[in-house]
Amino acid sequence: MSQLEKACGACQACCVVLKIQTPQLRKKAGVPCPHLEQKGCGIYDNRPPVCRAFLCGWRLLPEQDASWRPDLSGVMLLRLAENQISKTYRAAGPGWVFVILDGEKAFTPRLGQFIAQMIKRRTAVFLSAMTPRIQINEQLEVSVAAGDIDGIVRILQQTHALLLPARAPSGFGRIWALYQAQVDRMRAIMEQRRK
Ligand code: SF4
Ligand code: SF4
Repeated sequence: MSQLEKACGACQACCVVLKIQTPQLRKKAGVPCPHLEQKGCGIYDNRPPVCRAFLCGWRLLPEQDASWRPDLSGVMLLRLAENQISKTYRAAGPGWVFVILDGEKAFTPRLGQFIAQMIKRRTAVFLSAMTPRIQINEQLEVSVAAGDIDGIVRILQQTHALLLPARAPSGFGRIWALYQAQVDRMRAIMEQRRK
């Protein structure tokens, strides 16, 4: 499905989820933009450049059909530029952040398969629960090599659950949740390597 065939329709995910810090528009992450109305952007014809330029992963990736639209699939993809990912993964192109908007909709075998394909190609893959992102390539390598899609989905759900407390706007709760998620990630990687 080409970029031209895709339209945001009823989706408003990026107008809520993203943090925007530009001279024309400032908003916090996870808070609806003040210009967002029930029907969509209230200043659409005059929306700032940052909004005009933004396309989520669903708009960019031809392999995602209409059912992957973020409000329908519960997951929004954000592209990361080369300078935002480690050199190890740059040969495979941009990195991708899977921002989980709705865990019940998002965590499906289809998502596991999609992420497995990216990991096989050595694309940098990150998970976010509308929180700071965490890279998950190493954590998923063994399950991807084994073709264990259920295992991939399980690890995604566990990591997502660890990240959720980091939605706290700031302070110790957020730092602790991110620390726990990193420790759990490293533990899972070490256990897989010992097997
Ligand atoms: S998240 Fe994607 S599909 Fe949804 S409104 Fe933003 S650009 Fe459009
Ligand atoms: S200005 Fe409009 S398009 Fe931009 S974030 Fe706000 S509601 Fe969305």
